[in-house]
Amino acid sequence: DAYLAAIEAANKALNAYVTVTGDKARDMAKASDARRAAGTVGALEGIPLGIKDLFGTEGEHTQACSHVLDGFKPRYESTVTANLWADGAVMLGKLNMDEFAMGSSNETSYYGPVINPWRAEGSNSDLVPGGSSGGSAAAVSAMLCAGATATDTGGSIRQPAAFTGTVGIKPTYGRCSRWGVVAFASSLDQAGPIARDVRDAAILLKSMASVDDKDTTSVDLPVPDYEAALGGSVRGLKIGIPREYRMDGMPAEIDALWQQGIAWLKDAGAEIVDIELPHTKYALPAYYIVAPAEASSNLARYDGVRYGLRVPGKDIADMYEKTRAEGFGQEVKRRIMIGTYVLSAGYYDAYYLRAQKVRTLIKRDFELAFNAGVDAILTPATPSSAFAIGDEELAADPVKMYLNDVFTVTVNMAGLPGIAVPAGLDPKGLPLGLQLIGRPFEEETLFKTAHVIE
Ligand code: GLN
Repeated sequence: DAYLAAIEAANKALNAYVTVTGDKARDMAKASDARRAAGTVGALEGIPLGIKDLFGTEGEHTQACSHVLDGFKPRYESTVTANLWADGAVMLGKLNMDEFAMGSSNETSYYGPVINPWRAEGSNSDLVPGGSSGGSAAAVSAMLCAGATATDTGGSIRQPAAFTGTVGIKPTYGRCSRWGVVAFASSLDQAGPIARDVRDAAILLKSMASVDDKDTTSVDLPVPDYEAALGGSVRGLKIGIPREYRMDGMPAEIDALWQQGIAWLKDAGAEIVDIELPHTKYALPAYYIVAPAEASSNLARYDGVRYGLRVPGKDIADMYEKTRAEGFGQEVKRRIMIGTYVLSAGYYDAYYLRAQKVRTLIKRDFELAFNAGVDAILTPATPSSAFAIGDEELAADPVKMYLNDVFTVTVNMAGLPGIAVPAGLDPKGLPLGLQLIGRPFEEETLFKTAHVIE
């Protein structure tokens, strides 16, 4: 009730929730009370969570914040949310996001932008919460849920976490089942939590992760007790500092934050080593080929027949065209066009295949670093703090917007785990985050190390 009241009071201003499931929340909470009385409590008993609108939730609106999915209520529950409910968590509602998770500012949602609860000191201007999991990050930051689910294809958990002073982890590809989560780019998409601190993130990920027959890319490895890793020593851990992440024109406060992170880890006994990830500069262009290519294929299913919106036409082809023309927003259309182009005969080899080769090189860079004994890699999470809503320069030039993902997309391309942890404030008083990148399926190392920084 306290959380529902908080949502009622703040959501008009923040636009973090697109659906509030108050009745369901109360029913789930009652069931939780009954289990508590019976002494059969789950790991998340009674914990109220917000769910990104990308996760299929049975009988509840699931629209990926797109007009094309108007009114869609799945008859299934995603594996990740089913895992959370099985552990006793309570669903408060569905959280706003960039349409089909395409964006870095949560301004592409059909339901309008999410407002970052943070503001620059002495300013009344609204800032973006980052994207695409902007609703998740804003809701956690403003205490409109105890934690939230999110997804990350190229940074969508870590960048909004950094912009809102919250913790977000993208686990290793395959750690969480993608079943029942609306697909954007299937070889990159991963679910993970956004939480108030590292401990909450560890507890939530433990519950979300599982192998799943319904997702053959989910991995059959035991899910460790991540919370138990917290408080462990980082003495002797080798932390790599990749020189390629020191970008030209990097703001002084981002570099200062990075140096501060290095100093904290050194003080805690970690060994700091310089490393090279030479293909880093190709990650962003390669990502913006691979991700749209997969998206153009995944989004072919929205045809006005099977889901959501249908705009009548004179015949089926006309209906299909009108539905897609009206149903998809500008950014989604841009991705579908780029994706279709790079996959088309004649361009496939030059763009898509080449991007896949670059992806292999990026992955190899990380493998070489890890094989040389590096346990985790420390970088800034984002190249700046939260920026203004409706920034005209960014709106006019999508490539500038894509630059937000410069520190995060490499991790998805290589399938590695990455965590964003709040590490300080910029001169305007806005949160900044550091990122730790780990070896495959070694999320424990990230939790342990991030806990030293937070
Ligand atoms: N900002 C990136 C994009 O627009 C990443 C999105 C994501 O991780 N879902 O593709």
